[in-house]
Amino acid sequence: MHSVTLIYGDGIGPEVVGSTRKIIEASGVKINWDVCEAGAKIFEQGLASGIPDKTIASIKRNRVALKGPLSTPVGYGEKSANVTLRKFFETYANIRPIKELPGVKTPYSGRGVDIVIVRENVEDLYAGIEYMQTPSAAECLKLITRAGCEKIIRLAFELARSENRKSIHCATKANIMKFTEGMMKRTFEEVAPEYPDINAHHIIIDNCAHQMVRNPERFETIVTTNMNGDIISDLGSGLVGGLGFAPGANIGSDIAIFEAVHGSAPKYTGKNVINPTALILSGIMMLRYLGEFEAANAIEQAVLVTLGVDKTFTRDVAGNVNGISTTAFTDVIISNLGKRLDGYNARDYKPIKTPTIAPIPMIKNRSVIGLDVFIETSQQPQQLGENLDKLVANSDLELKMVSSRGVIVYPSPGITPSVGDFFRCRFFLRDQTSDLTHDQVVYLLSIIDQKYRWMHIEKLNVFDNELAFSKAQGED
Ligand code: NAP
Repeated sequence: MHSVTLIYGDGIGPEVVGSTRKIIEASGVKINWDVCEAGAKIFEQGLASGIPDKTIASIKRNRVALKGPLSTPVGYGEKSANVTLRKFFETYANIRPIKELPGVKTPYSGRGVDIVIVRENVEDLYAGIEYMQTPSAAECLKLITRAGCEKIIRLAFELARSENRKSIHCATKANIMKFTEGMMKRTFEEVAPEYPDINAHHIIIDNCAHQMVRNPERFETIVTTNMNGDIISDLGSGLVGGLGFAPGANIGSDIAIFEAVHGSAPKYTGKNVINPTALILSGIMMLRYLGEFEAANAIEQAVLVTLGVDKTFTRDVAGNVNGISTTAFTDVIISNLGKRLDGYNARDYKPIKTPTIAPIPMIKNRSVIGLDVFIETSQQPQQLGENLDKLVANSDLELKMVSSRGVIVYPSPGITPSVGDFFRCRFFLRDQTSDLTHDQVVYLLSIIDQKYRWMHIEKLNVFDNELAFSKAQGED
C-alpha cells in the first residue's frame, strides 16, 4: 500500500484529480490518499504561502504527491503556491513528456513525436531575485550553480536510461551567457562520458526551438535551464495537442510532486467539460515512480484505446457538440482497462535512479583584482569617465572602463551607443600582485559617493587563473 498526498486544487482541479483518482483506483493499485489543501482557499484565509503546515507535513511524510492546479489569486499574496511548493521541497527537476497520442490530430500527427524535457526547476531567473537599479532600470539575477547543473544533468541521463532513450540534447544559450548558461554546457560535457550508452549533444536553445518545430522527431531527451525549459516545454505541448494532454512531474532527491502543466482554467470550473488526460498521464508517471509499472502500462493503454480506437474526446478536441463530459470520458477509460492498442510501441520503463552529487572540487587559487561599481547618473559617458579618472587619480585603483548595458562607452569606442541612466564602472588595482582589500573598497566607494549615487558593487575575481567576470562588448 502506498501513501500519497492528494491536493485537489482550484478551478478545474477537483474534476481532473477526481478523474485520475478514480482511474488509478480502478486499476487495482492500493493507495492511501492523504487529502490535503493548498491554493486559493488558503490564501483567502490569510496564509501568505497558500500551503498549510498540515500539507507540508503530509508531503514530507509521504514523499509523493499528486496535485491539481493552484490559482494565484490577485490580492492575496504575490507568490505562486506552485512555485513555493517546488522550492520548499527542492524538486529541482521538472519533467515534461511530449508524446504524440493516437487520434489527437495535430499538424505533426504520424511523425512519432516522443520527447521528454528535463527542465531545471529551482534556479535561473526564476529564483525571482529582482531589483530596480534606478527608477527606470530593472534587474533580475540569473543564478546558476554547478551543483544545480550536475543534479539536473545526471537526472536527465538517468531518466533517459530508465526510459530506454538513446540520445540527449543539452540546450543552452552558452554562446552569449558564458558563465551561467555556460555552466550547464560545461557540466553536461563533463558528465556525458559517464553515460557512453547515450548520445550526448549540445544545442543552442534558439536553434533547439527551431528544430523542435521543423523536425521534432530528432529529439528524445532535452535537458535545459529553467527559463529555456519553461518556454520549450510549452512549445512541445503544442506539438501534441495542447495543454489538455501535457503531463508533468517535479522531482527532488527523495520527493516527487506530480501535476499537469495546465492551470486551474477557472472559466470551466464545475462544468464537467474539461479534458483530464494531462493529469491522468501525470498519474501514470507517478505510478512508474512508485514502481507500479504494470498498472501504469494498463492505464496508458486504456487512454490510448479511448483516444485512438474509440475516438472518444472531450470538448477541447471534439467541440461542444461531439465532446463528452469529463466524467463520461473517465468512465470510458475505466471500461478500457485491460485492452491494448495494436502497434503502439510502449517504452520499456525501468525504475529511475535519482542521482547523488559528489562535493564540487575546490579551486586552488583565487584573487580579487578589482571592483565593478554601478552608478546612476544622467551625465554622458565621456564626462562620467573623465570625472571618475580624476576622482581615483590618487587611489590604489584605476578606472578600466565604463559600460552601458554591457557595451563599452568609455574610453569611447568611436561610436555612440544609446545609454541609460546607469553605468557599470570597472576599477582595477594598479598593483595586481596583491588582493583588493576591504579598506580599498570602502575608500573607493567613499570618493565616488561624494559625486555620484552608486547602487551596487561586484568584486572582480580570478579563480585558478581564469577571469570570473564577463568583459563588456568592446573591452580588451
Ligand atoms: P490555464 O488554467 O492552463 O488555462 C488556459 C486555457 O487552456 C484554458 O482557458 C483552456 O483553453 C485550456 N485548458 C487548460 N487546461 C485544460 C484542460 N484540462 N482541458 C481543456 N482545456 C484546458 O491557464 P491560465 O488561465 O493562464 O491560468 C489560470 C490559473 O491557473 C492562474 O491562477 C494561474 O496562476 C494558475 N496556474 C496554475 C498552474 C499549476 O498549478 N501548476 C499552472 C499554470 C497556471 P480554452 O479557453 O481555449 O478552452
